[in-house]
Amino acid sequence: MFSVKLAEETILNLVQPFDPIYDRESINLVDAVGRILSIDLVSKLDFPHFTNSAMDGYAFHYADLEQFPALEIASVDIPAGASSPIPLAIGQCARILTGGILPDRADTVVMQEDITKIDRDHLKLEVVPAIGENVRPKGAFYRAGSLLLPAGTKIDPTSIGALAAAHYQQIEVYRRPRVAILSTGNELVDLYSQAELKLGQIIDSNQYSIASLVRQTGAIAIPMGIVPDRKSELAQAIKDSIDTADIVISSGGVSVGDYDYVETLLAEMGAEIHIRSVAIKPGKPLTVATWQQDLPAPKLYFGVPGNPVSAMVSFWRFIAGSIAKLSGANQSHWYPKFITATTTQDLHAQGKRETYLWGYLRWQSGQYTFQPVDNYSSGNLISLVGTNALAVLRVNQTYVPAGESVLILHL
Ligand code: AMP
Ligand code: MG
Repeated sequence: MFSVKLAEETILNLVQPFDPIYDRESINLVDAVGRILSIDLVSKLDFPHFTNSAMDGYAFHYADLEQFPALEIASVDIPAGASSPIPLAIGQCARILTGGILPDRADTVVMQEDITKIDRDHLKLEVVPAIGENVRPKGAFYRAGSLLLPAGTKIDPTSIGALAAAHYQQIEVYRRPRVAILSTGNELVDLYSQAELKLGQIIDSNQYSIASLVRQTGAIAIPMGIVPDRKSELAQAIKDSIDTADIVISSGGVSVGDYDYVETLLAEMGAEIHIRSVAIKPGKPLTVATWQQDLPAPKLYFGVPGNPVSAMVSFWRFIAGSIAKLSGANQSHWYPKFITATTTQDLHAQGKRETYLWGYLRWQSGQYTFQPVDNYSSGNLISLVGTNALAVLRVNQTYVPAGESVLILHL
């Protein structure tokens, strides 16, 4: 049995990130949020493109202040968008608005709050700014040729704004990973089946929860449906999944029950099995296999337990990070986000396996608190609804009293 840490490392080592040449596409910037840059983006422009004012005020030549106790106000105003820099005579200043082009002779802007008008055409500075103050020189933020965003950046709204400002209409991103989702079990019925549920049957909920988790990572979920616990059908479904996807996730059939075929079947079909079980609760049975075809990169197979909560915990702990690595995202996206919080109630675990207890993470009176749910059955999906965190009790950690700090995986 693998420790959680070793399982995480083993899985990440199996993932070969997308190729920046073959696994990329060009998309419109407006569609890019959540996507991963496949190349370094270098600015084609200086930013600011031209020297301009950072304030509403008056532009002037700093050294003129020595000779001229009052500055003469030029007749032309400089609003943002005015296209040619105005000339400025010695001893003159010009009314300028934020974003306006600085006049050629000017080097400093005084805020409009800091002057008084002597008459219609003259003003006096009440507060003298430092030389260069309130001016945004051309290229001060970045220069043409400088790196804006490196490959592997996950595009967020701030990057969208920065790239729009840098005049990127289209960008090169990695393609989205394709993830096939299979549900195994004779008891499973499709959500949209018209027939009434018979005794012993349940709806295949994993198909939908896992597909949603996959989509949340930015990957494409490919629903492969339900496969009964029969070897020949399972073999065909696994083969079809491998053919269409980069990653396959099947749920169910990975325990040691009489109908749990996934692992033996994978081995018979020539897959290489790397992990069979992990010392984690919930989610102990976890099959991780690779599929070496005539491909540049092996395909990754995850067999997670059928219990709905276990399946989701396995995804959060092990699969989300592998999808991130495959997708070309930089290393900061390969691991879950951990913080610490104060538990509001006693937490218990058996101590043999690393235990994940779900609950509510809140910001209360200046600290994070964790409140566990009341019922920890790994079949009880409704207890997971609305939770946003998993408290982690390490191996041999059997008890965390209320008021103590606990490690939290933030969902
Ligand atoms: P298994 O891992 O196949 O032994 O299944 C463990 C438990 O999870 C059983 O109670 C199954 O009925 C249930 N289960 C398996 N697959 C699913 C699924 N796709 N949706 C909901 N429950 C499932
Ligand atoms: Mg089963």
